[in-house]
Amino acid sequence: MKPIQEIFTLLSQPRKVVITTHQKPDADAMGSSLAMRHFLEQLGHSVTVISPTNWAGWVNWMPGVKEVMDYEQDKQKAELILESAEWLFCLDFNIFHRTKTLTEKLQRLTCTKILIDHHQEPDEPSFDYGVSDTSKSSTCEMVYDFIVDSGHADKINEKVGECIYAGVVGDTGSFRFSSAHAGVHKLVADLKSRGLEHGVVHEQLYDNFLENRLRFVGHALLHRMEVFYEYNTALIAVPKGDLLKYHIKTGDTEGLVNFPQSIQGIKLVALVIDRDEERKWSFRSKGGFDCNTFARKYFEGGGHFNAAGGRSTESLEKTVQRFKAAIKENEHLLQ
Ligand code: 5GP
Ligand code: MN
Repeated sequence: MKPIQEIFTLLSQPRKVVITTHQKPDADAMGSSLAMRHFLEQLGHSVTVISPTNWAGWVNWMPGVKEVMDYEQDKQKAELILESAEWLFCLDFNIFHRTKTLTEKLQRLTCTKILIDHHQEPDEPSFDYGVSDTSKSSTCEMVYDFIVDSGHADKINEKVGECIYAGVVGDTGSFRFSSAHAGVHKLVADLKSRGLEHGVVHEQLYDNFLENRLRFVGHALLHRMEVFYEYNTALIAVPKGDLLKYHIKTGDTEGLVNFPQSIQGIKLVALVIDRDEERKWSFRSKGGFDCNTFARKYFEGGGHFNAAGGRSTESLEKTVQRFKAAIKENEHLLQ
């Protein structure tokens, strides 16, 4: 993978560009993709954003989201667009299998592939150009750097700014994680000076659910949460029946994993949701417990030091049992 700076001089020639991101894109994945699209379009490129799957309703306010293609809904058309692409931007994922059913299609493409990402252990040989930096708060921060470093800061308009800000807010837990370093706050100051209305973005992201989602959160905290004080760990295990009962849609479970972190002394929170095809794990930690290593070792996953995800094809009961054995094995790291 050659350094991303090497494509700066190539940006002036208009190209057919596809931007893609990880499955079930969150605020950072969708925000970085759309910010990049709005930027490249100003330079004359013809740009399509293709998501591997559908996405949460709370990113639907983002400027340009209506034109984003859902690969699972429109495979043939998306594949035609991919086949004619000259550049493929891969944002907010480190390895192609994070794009689910799009994986093989992307691997086979022979166009120029460009990675911009902040997850650990990127599959660098799969990309022609790129930047992978785990010290970055978000891929949105990296898209901001890309625009500024390529000499086009003047292209950061209202649309670009809103998309970037959304991803930064999402991935830093509203600026509380240690990843929200001084540069992140400077970035926000710059976006503000360019007209960003930050309060609107927070409302769109966090005050835009239906009643049933809040009832579901209450139910999960009351009936599905276990706290293991001996391991400073909290677990929420959500059975499929709860998802049906509360009409839970993509994105409604986002944020649930953060609630148990408010319990004094808790170092690890795990959330497992019984989805149709798999049991999906989310892990969050405070301090020195490495969620990325834990998710990789026990649940075929990965991510960041303090936030990671994984999966299991076992039943909910079995995967929970395995989790309990795993925290016992990691007891010394959880004290
Ligand atoms: P979440 O719990 O919000 O789904 O994911 C937390 C973080 O871990 C995100 O940065 C996400 O991209 C990453 N992540 C989630 N699941 C996986 C996985 O299966 N593999 C890898 N490598 N990263 C994951
Ligand atoms: Mn991200």
